[in-house]
Amino acid sequence: MMTVKQVTIEEAFEKSIRNGSPLLYKDSLRGIKGLHEGQVIDVKNNAGKFIGRGYYAIQNKGIGWILTTNPQEAIDYSFFEGKIKAANNRRAALYHDNETTAFRLFNGEGDGIGGFTVDKYDQYLLIQWYSKGIYEYKEWIIKALDTHVEFKGIYEKKRFDTNGTYVEGDDFTFGEPGEFPIMVKESGMNFAVDLNEGAMTGIFLDQREVRKTIRDKYAQGKDVLNTFSYTGAFSVAAAIGGSKSTTSVDLANRSRAKTSLNFEYNDISLTDQKIVVEDVFHYFKYAVKKQLAFDMVILDPPSFARSKKHTFSAAKDYANLLKEAISITKQSGVIVASTNCSTFDMKKFKQFIHEAFGKQKDRYTILEEFGLPEDFANIRHLKESNYLKVVFIKKLK
Ligand code: SAH
Repeated sequence: MMTVKQVTIEEAFEKSIRNGSPLLYKDSLRGIKGLHEGQVIDVKNNAGKFIGRGYYAIQNKGIGWILTTNPQEAIDYSFFEGKIKAANNRRAALYHDNETTAFRLFNGEGDGIGGFTVDKYDQYLLIQWYSKGIYEYKEWIIKALDTHVEFKGIYEKKRFDTNGTYVEGDDFTFGEPGEFPIMVKESGMNFAVDLNEGAMTGIFLDQREVRKTIRDKYAQGKDVLNTFSYTGAFSVAAAIGGSKSTTSVDLANRSRAKTSLNFEYNDISLTDQKIVVEDVFHYFKYAVKKQLAFDMVILDPPSFARSKKHTFSAAKDYANLLKEAISITKQSGVIVASTNCSTFDMKKFKQFIHEAFGKQKDRYTILEEFGLPEDFANIRHLKESNYLKVVFIKKLK
């Protein structure tokens, strides 16, 4: 039987838990001195009333998670197994989709246990651990996955430190090791994935609907510029959708080979696909000078990035980035503005869009919007977990 420690929650934070947000914020608890990572805690209010049971763990987002508000429910193997089994069952539609073999299987708090996620990449699983506390439960989590999910092997990313930064290492952890890159399918498109090569895997699974939308509704006959292109996944979607040309811009050297490989995996000739290894801000200046103009410009920058000349912070600089994009987008062209920055919401993002078009003296209309897809189950009230914002914007005369 696991010992349970008693802690008290400050009044100001009690409400957010009552409202269904399981995150325990930094400075929200008293009585945490001497607690170890992973310790099961009973959270009480100032009057001594039971608020919830959870675990203590220091991570980027806080100091732990509530797991249940039922005082009778124990945090044991069957608790973990139940959540994992239920999450797996909820993905039935994706399992039955023959065109898609990569998706999120377990999305932390959205599936009932904050602190880790599990992605399925064809026959391999990837677990991302966001604290040492949740890592204490690794054995249970793998056992539950082994019981309820079919797979060959499991890889892991430890994102333990308080910034959520990836800890380098061999990431193979259970079952049979894979030979990478493997090919995964998404909406009938092929993408290369490597689960043992640093923090990223080759594809961001939360953009599945956006890639499909670009392919099915916007790409036909268009000249497409894909900035911060990484492995070129949006460019591949555009090319399959019949684009006239794609230009993929990313400053990382790795992007060239990885983008070519993704085109190859889809039998797309490289003739009309340009891959430019360069700082996006530099490329914009070049494009203006050369009077280049695109029918579609895709913007998907990291929330924060430092290059030799620039520090980019989405919260501060997105409007300026958009301005540059607008200036090289044709009239009636479409800008796909995406951000995974959790420090501002859709409302604020639309203000950035409004501001950028205002400064450029161009009119616009919003065509469609995307957030996280269903497999990235999340808690509506918890804005930290509902980070993705994608807006399709048409530039008007
Ligand atoms: N849009 C991509 C994901 C982008 S990840 C996709 O859908 O898969 C962020 C990428 O931005 C990384 O590949 C990084 O190398 C690149 N990057 C960061 N700062 C940059 C800059 N100033 N210019 C060009 N690329 C940049």
